[in-house]
Amino acid sequence: MTLLLASLLLSAVTIHTDFEGGCLGQIQKVSDSHFRLAVKGESDQDHRNRQANWYYFRVDGASSQPLTLDMVNLPGEYNYKPNRGAVTKDTPPVISYDGVHWEHLKTFEYDPKEPKLTLHIRPQKATFWVAHCAPYTNQTLAKLRREIHNSPDFHEQKIGKTVGGRDLLLWTITHGDNKSKKTIWLMFRQHSWESGSSWVGEGAIRTLLSDESRKLREEVIWKIIPLCDPDGVARGGVRFNANGFDLNRNWDLVDPIKMPEITAQRNAVKQWLESGNHIDLLLSLHNTEMNEYLEGPPDNGGNGKFKPLAERVFQILSQQTTFAPAGPLRYAEETTTPGKPGRMTVTQGLYRDFKVPGFLMEQRISYNAKLGKLPDIAERVKFGGELVQALAKAVVQ
Ligand SMILES: [Zn+2]
Repeated sequence: MTLLLASLLLSAVTIHTDFEGGCLGQIQKVSDSHFRLAVKGESDQDHRNRQANWYYFRVDGASSQPLTLDMVNLPGEYNYKPNRGAVTKDTPPVISYDGVHWEHLKTFEYDPKEPKLTLHIRPQKATFWVAHCAPYTNQTLAKLRREIHNSPDFHEQKIGKTVGGRDLLLWTITHGDNKSKKTIWLMFRQHSWESGSSWVGEGAIRTLLSDESRKLREEVIWKIIPLCDPDGVARGGVRFNANGFDLNRNWDLVDPIKMPEITAQRNAVKQWLESGNHIDLLLSLHNTEMNEYLEGPPDNGGNGKFKPLAERVFQILSQQTTFAPAGPLRYAEETTTPGKPGRMTVTQGLYRDFKVPGFLMEQRISYNAKLGKLPDIAERVKFGGELVQALAKAVVQ
């Protein structure tokens, strides 16, 4: 009897988030094999714009018996408009048995009424991890940094600290000092849930530092902010810094206390320009659940000045990479919410202040028609290489 009890206790399924990027709201046990898991979600500094799409947890003590996990508490708000949430039948989670290899779960159903996404898992091992999309944490970036930091064409600056005291990094990749060479700025992971953009960043950086890419380093100075929101990534956040400020809004404000991340990144751009340098193209890469597009600089492409560049970038990406836009090239508005401060994206703010030709790219995490599947890590990394080739081609003529 005691032995039986002990083995029952040992085999009890438990759910954990006590690791970097781990995140869930309330965990409710319906039965030994059925749990309701609230997606925690986060809101901004005014308790608005709740977004509930990042979850990342570990299951321990699973047997080979099927488990049912209901992902709930999904509805939210985006740019002040309510929605049913970003977790749907189109965005099944990824699952991993080693924390390295991830694949999309194929057995799930979506109930739009509650709404909830029910996962049916027949565990292959006692321990496994589940996430909204393949995680990329500060530890993942640190591993990349260890591999590349001795490269002679790699240079690192610390440009500031986050609210939580983490370093904000600016990496420069270039070879030689041809003064007329072009400059391309890349920003990854302004929003912490968007891990796909970090995998693209990793692919971009590895390509730029490869032996075959010497020409890319000779022709272009690459300025890269590899991870714009280290605090959010660490806590498993969504799109706000530790004080609730959306790191791809608020670029019309300078507040080093409430949003030191934006201030540091903006100052790095400002100092670069004020030192007599130029920026030929800036791109911030993002993920959405369902949409994919490229958005050029405001003011209809800088009153037309940047339109040829924008059209070149869009055409090369559309024709030569797995970028699968849902519509034509578009241009940013002056702000995301007219009349309200704190609502400019990075490209809007930097255009207003410095006339930087900035681009925003969104890539969907759902089905990509060019790939014919849901994008995985290898495809993101590969796209990173394609991206830097395409941008260099568009800028160096
Ligand atoms: Zn984003």
